[in-house]
Amino acid sequence: MADTNLMSIPGQVDPVPVARDITPREDGRLDLIGLPRARILQLFAEAGLDARQAKLRAKQVYHWLYHRGAAEFDAMTDIAKTMRPWLNERFVIGRPNVVEAQHSSDGTRKWLLQTDDGHDFEMVFIPDADRGTLCVSSQVGCTLNCTFCHTGTMRLVRNLTPGEIVGQVMLARDALGEWPKGKMDFDFADDESSESAAHYTADGRLLTNIVMMGMGEPLYNFDHVRDALKLVMDGDGLALSKRRITLSTSGVVPMMERCSEEIGVNLAVSLHAVTKSVRDELVPLNKKYGIEELLQACADYPKASNARRITFEYVMLKDKNDSDDDARELVRLLKHYKLPAKVNLIPFNPWPGAEYECSTPERIKAFSNIVFEGGISAPVRTPRGRDIDAACGQLKTTAQKKSRAQRDREAAQAS
Ligand code: SAH
Ligand code: SF4
Repeated sequence: MADTNLMSIPGQVDPVPVARDITPREDGRLDLIGLPRARILQLFAEAGLDARQAKLRAKQVYHWLYHRGAAEFDAMTDIAKTMRPWLNERFVIGRPNVVEAQHSSDGTRKWLLQTDDGHDFEMVFIPDADRGTLCVSSQVGCTLNCTFCHTGTMRLVRNLTPGEIVGQVMLARDALGEWPKGKMDFDFADDESSESAAHYTADGRLLTNIVMMGMGEPLYNFDHVRDALKLVMDGDGLALSKRRITLSTSGVVPMMERCSEEIGVNLAVSLHAVTKSVRDELVPLNKKYGIEELLQACADYPKASNARRITFEYVMLKDKNDSDDDARELVRLLKHYKLPAKVNLIPFNPWPGAEYECSTPERIKAFSNIVFEGGISAPVRTPRGRDIDAACGQLKTTAQKKSRAQRDREAAQAS
């Protein structure tokens, strides 16, 4: 079984190798967002609460943080008023800092976010008729240097902490006004607990799905992604079903089994090519874990039953990977490994300096038809939020070109 702590990470700049779970703050207080209940309990005990109090408060605070989305301790109405200053002195409830928030004419929303130590990353919300998908980042930049991906060209790379990952989902719920309202659904033996039965419901939300398809390779930040998604999936946390979460990987084969066992969400695999030479070029990680090895790992992914098909992402690049032969080979490969699969055809989203062009719509259609005729679903992903550069995997572009002063002005105007 692979150990992420020991796994060497290719690329020019390695992420911070320390397993930090909290980004240090200048005021010395600790940000609780991203921490599991047991860690909150431990911090409360270390700060002086006796065992019983620490357990009770950790349970209450956890519920308020992740289930109710409380952004300040003063909102935690069942926690004694005298207790709240104690919490305020030592802890904070963080959110990623918003540098810029954009709203596309088609409803897509994009946020440029920043960590407390000044690294930019992005998140995108894509509303559809029957669902709303949040595209979440796992790293600042990416070490894998796929040649068609703009994120891969970023020099600076750092793993996001669990707080910075789950914080994206929490920020989206803040922005969409989607925290459960009403009363708390449990009764604590606390004299100030005046709330009683639950009245809130998760129905009718806009944000229904999460895809780990923003910046970064989630399986190169496995522990933090797992810890963040556990908070998202916990019924007393953000309470989003794992069936509604998809993790996209470029093919980090040694981590796929652990992904299934320890996270258990849907898997998407960025295949993008069917021959060694083309995939070696597009996804250099292919030189380490080749197509056969990758597809075998997909076939072994225990969640790959008909009910939980693996999605194969395939970016459409003109004269590179888009021929009829490529389409036929794709069908052959997926059938050979008996994969219950779906193929997502992604029109290439160009960026300044990119060496590739997007295939023509006719070519994409012809490619899609061949895969469909082979018995595999192959929808074309409609580009969304083009006016704000919001496609997943195509993040952090225009904002980087703006000066810091210009962004500050815009952020001030927006608030
Ligand atoms: N690192 C992971 C997840 C992030 S990328 C992965 O590679 O799977 C999310 C998806 O966007 C991937 O399928 C990626 O190949 C795709 N992508 C990246 N750049 C793109 C571009 N310029 N146009 C279209 N899709 C792109
Ligand atoms: Fe990294 Fe995914 Fe972009 Fe490749 S496609 S460079 S793995 S973010």
